[in-house]
Amino acid sequence: MNRIPVIIFLGVPGAGKGTQALRLSNEKGIPRISTGDMLRQAVQDDSPLGRMVQAIMKDGRLVDDETMLKLVQDRILRPDCRNGFILDGYPRNMQQAGQFERILQPHMDVRVVKIEVAEEDIVKRIAGRRTCPKCERIYNIYFHPPGKDELCDADQTPLFRRDDDLEDVVRRRIETYQRETRPLIDYYGSKQVLQLVNGSQNSNLVADQILRAVDLN
Ligand code: AMP
Repeated sequence: MNRIPVIIFLGVPGAGKGTQALRLSNEKGIPRISTGDMLRQAVQDDSPLGRMVQAIMKDGRLVDDETMLKLVQDRILRPDCRNGFILDGYPRNMQQAGQFERILQPHMDVRVVKIEVAEEDIVKRIAGRRTCPKCERIYNIYFHPPGKDELCDADQTPLFRRDDDLEDVVRRRIETYQRETRPLIDYYGSKQVLQLVNGSQNSNLVADQILRAVDLN
């Protein structure tokens, strides 16, 4: 049986995981699964899940592991994942990494990309971030502004700023990352599936480096 790629993006909030995961997804025709986007959609839909996670997300804390496992498990069973998929935002702690490993199939080949950025870049990256609610394109008003005002280049939809991109929440999200998510770097490093990519360079160079790192053809 052919092995299928499962690509996990790691990196501090604002490192450019979403942007780069989307690029890789478009380039390779495999879906990007952003657990953050799925949860934000649930909040917007005012579903039971959305009502449960809204306050947690607003605080920059993590949603519980069982809820996340169920969400990811259901998503990766969908037919569009049969040739591989990209995870952006999952797993987020050691417990989730262990749970995820147990649901992986033997023909799935995990590769982990960590996008590294200088600490001082992060606040500007997050403060400048804007997203298109329609097509999910991600912009940055400092580094990658849209052509016109704050409208999406592709469909002219007004861009929005995430609730949790405000400064004190950002600080909490970074703390959560350092405490919960950073241990995954050593974990995947010791499994020899980790590739480090310099995220402080131009976005096209980052994308090239990621393509080489994940070695998909
Ligand atoms: P993100 O868009 O990946 O930064 O996620 C936004 C928020 O969604 C996070 O701050 C968490 O509150 C929640 N979230 C996303 N993914 C996970 C996960 N794997 N585990 C727990 N909470 C998550």
